[in-house]
Amino acid sequence: MKILVLNAGSSSLKYQLFDMDSGEVTAKGNCERIGAGGTVTHKKAGADKYFEEIDLPDHGRAIEVVLDLLVSAEHGVIGSIGEIDAVGHRVAHGGEQCRESTRVTESVIKYLESIVPINPLHGPPAIAGMKACLALMPDVPQVAVFDTSFYSEIEDFRYIYPIPYEYYEKDRIRRYGFHGTSHRYVSAEMAKILGKPLSELKIITCHLGNGSSITAVDHGKAIDTSLGFTPQEGIAMGTRSGSIDPTVVTYLMKTKGYTPDEMENILNKKSGLLGISGMSNDCRNLTEASEKGDPMATLALKIMTNGIKRYIGAYAAEMNGLDALVFTAGIGENQKNIRRMVCENMSYLGIEIDADKNENFVRGIPFDLTKEGAKVQTWIIPTDEEYMIALDTKKLAF
Ligand code: AMP
Repeated sequence: MKILVLNAGSSSLKYQLFDMDSGEVTAKGNCERIGAGGTVTHKKAGADKYFEEIDLPDHGRAIEVVLDLLVSAEHGVIGSIGEIDAVGHRVAHGGEQCRESTRVTESVIKYLESIVPINPLHGPPAIAGMKACLALMPDVPQVAVFDTSFYSEIEDFRYIYPIPYEYYEKDRIRRYGFHGTSHRYVSAEMAKILGKPLSELKIITCHLGNGSSITAVDHGKAIDTSLGFTPQEGIAMGTRSGSIDPTVVTYLMKTKGYTPDEMENILNKKSGLLGISGMSNDCRNLTEASEKGDPMATLALKIMTNGIKRYIGAYAAEMNGLDALVFTAGIGENQKNIRRMVCENMSYLGIEIDADKNENFVRGIPFDLTKEGAKVQTWIIPTDEEYMIALDTKKLAF
């Protein structure tokens, strides 16, 4: 069985074709600069990368280009489009109604269109991708997998913001949570590794990348998470501020005369690690600079790691205990200094990592960091959102 997984961003379209019998990715790639020129980078398993500049006015055209590449004599891996059994779409926001992965139907698309105002960046490209696939492959089942659906069982006292309740009732302002597919995948993998049912474990999963989130997974259910109404809440990220006193925003708008768009741009694109360091949003660059004694790079990393500690403490309290702590995504999987900073002085909570294991970790596989005798298991687990989407698609498509 062959499943195509699509992940449409505002100007990009990532794709992977899975052979579900072997679990292998037979081809993958990325269309970029959609709507502003266009490029495609395509990689067939076992072959060199292929790159082409090609006009991509919209996501529909990008999907046509991807399908052409998948069947092309030189770069392709299938004989015809008919060999694709199902398509899985990553959808960042499922609002309050899309509470689990679902078959793409007219009514699902209609609902997603209705929530574009609260998902203006990622909603339109995902919808365009689904519509294009329905038009190009009308007989192939399409499944939508939502980043938010892992959080559909969070209780109201954890998702309602303490502002007048009418903003929730009338404007749907609440915590939604994001990166759910990643947290769902790594928490399930953690349980498998520990040889225990997920329903018996208290796990905190730290998805630390350019965007970051922490999730408390209590007996298999996400009970709380750090991202909120948008992926702006929580810890300091690459370029996003994370949580700050909301009055800072109104104060700056009043005193500097910033428009809402200018303010949003500062909070989204110019804050976080970049804003503090004045140098980079990339943890690798900041680590190097900090090791050379740059005080602002060090400050940026301390602010981020202290934020992660706060959430771990809060979530251990909310769950009344902790069995396992998981690090994943670009920073979580690769930056030993960040894992060290997060885990130091956490023995009160039972978190103790082995310094040698953390120093000499092996990339790309689940890796145990736990110090002998520690109460909490601490692991690196590489995330695989695309595979999770393919698994959901397989389950729902037939
Ligand atoms: P992500 O958003 O998950 O791609 O993660 C991006 C972040 O991970 C950046 O801050 C990178 O500096 C950091 N990172 C560190 N090492 C690596 C690596 N080997 N590959 C990718 N990202 C890395």
